[in-house]
Amino acid sequence: MGGIIDSIRSSGVVGAGGAGFPTHVKLDTNAEVIIVNAAECEPLLRVDQQLCQRYALELVRTLKTLMAVVGAEQGYFGIKKKYGPAVTALQKAIDSEGLSNNIKIFLLKDFYPAGDEQVLVYEITGRAVPEGGIPLMVGTVVVNVETLLNIYFALNFNNPVTEKYVTVTGAVSRPQTLKVPLGVNLSFLLELVGGTTVFPFAVIDGGPLMGNVIKDKDKFFVTKTTKGIIILPEDHPLILAKNQALQVSLHQARSACCQCVACTEICPRFLLGHNLQPHKTMLSISYLNLASAKGLTQSFLCSQCGLCDLYACPMGLSPRKVNQFLQQQLREQKVKNPHQRKDLTPPSFREYRKVPGKRIIERWGLAKWDVESPLKEDSLKAQEVSLSLKQHIGAPAIPVVEKGEKVEKGQLIGKAPENTLGANIHASISGIVKSRDESVIVIQSI
Ligand code: SF4
Ligand code: SF4
Repeated sequence: MGGIIDSIRSSGVVGAGGAGFPTHVKLDTNAEVIIVNAAECEPLLRVDQQLCQRYALELVRTLKTLMAVVGAEQGYFGIKKKYGPAVTALQKAIDSEGLSNNIKIFLLKDFYPAGDEQVLVYEITGRAVPEGGIPLMVGTVVVNVETLLNIYFALNFNNPVTEKYVTVTGAVSRPQTLKVPLGVNLSFLLELVGGTTVFPFAVIDGGPLMGNVIKDKDKFFVTKTTKGIIILPEDHPLILAKNQALQVSLHQARSACCQCVACTEICPRFLLGHNLQPHKTMLSISYLNLASAKGLTQSFLCSQCGLCDLYACPMGLSPRKVNQFLQQQLREQKVKNPHQRKDLTPPSFREYRKVPGKRIIERWGLAKWDVESPLKEDSLKAQEVSLSLKQHIGAPAIPVVEKGEKVEKGQLIGKAPENTLGANIHASISGIVKSRDESVIVIQSI
């Protein structure tokens, strides 16, 4: 099995649906269950459901391979029931491979954040991941759909990760899910979808809730974790809420929180039994000295899902940003997460507090952009790509090419440091290395 892990490592596969954790590290273990995360719970994004439909057989076969690698008896696709064609394709593939005893489809309701790893594991296995823990602590490994597909191409064709599927949607002429070389810029994406239909416009990198508004559009380049690009009018309420300055959030937390508890009542981590109660954090910061955040360690448990501020709070406050600030303060003060409870009991009302995806769409007036974004897999030629040497969690890759050097698509250009968490980076187009420093390699097509 070491050969499989080595292939995944050398191909530079990282988590394509989240922060980019190197996949070879995640799979170099023993587990009872592997869950393929196909929940795609952020509204408007389409990548995972489309890949499940298009590559069902490849995904099922690769899941079977990975189950053998980690010794798992059971595999699941966790996917929303509403993604009907994808569900049908997966079931057909499972049946045709004779794997219906070992690989099952778990149908999720349409709620947010069904794709949060801890939520997904609890939904499917009934096991609650300890506070501050990872799914492996309850015998489970979770992989994203596109990650699984990248493993398929690595194992069967020796293909490194050089391309990314990205849903480009919102206020654009032709919303689509594009397969593009890593490192292409925003203009490249927008040209392929016929440009924007509003001006001035803002860009969210990711989904409406967890995605970040891109501050400098000229410095955006597709990475291994880019999942969606959403264009909205610059004055759209969601953009204004996301752009609210941290200082404003902190000030408002002190002055305007009415302690209604709405944020805690729908917090997905609280609903798993974690000691995270954002209304208490909002109260505490009024009294505690923020320069010493040690009394506010429950913020470590926040997943930044965005439900508290972008859905629940009637006062427009942001416990999420406050938690983000506190996490940063605590790390700077070298405070470690003390919350590691394992005996979690999700409250009985959890089921009734789940937030339907369509309510989020209504809340932010996104219905007119909740449209099909057809999958386009044509070979798209880019003139230039800018490849970050850190598209993953861990240490940046070390550049192994020089300025002026000719490179071929798929060639290793950044090597993961030995004995350190990291991932290889490969050229996503053939061309000449136009520039190279410790953080980015730019390749120009010839
Ligand atoms: S962002 Fe808010 S709702 Fe989400 S986990 Fe953090 S505190 Fe809970
Ligand atoms: S929902 Fe808003 S007002 Fe209510 S407790 Fe939470 S932060 Fe305070």
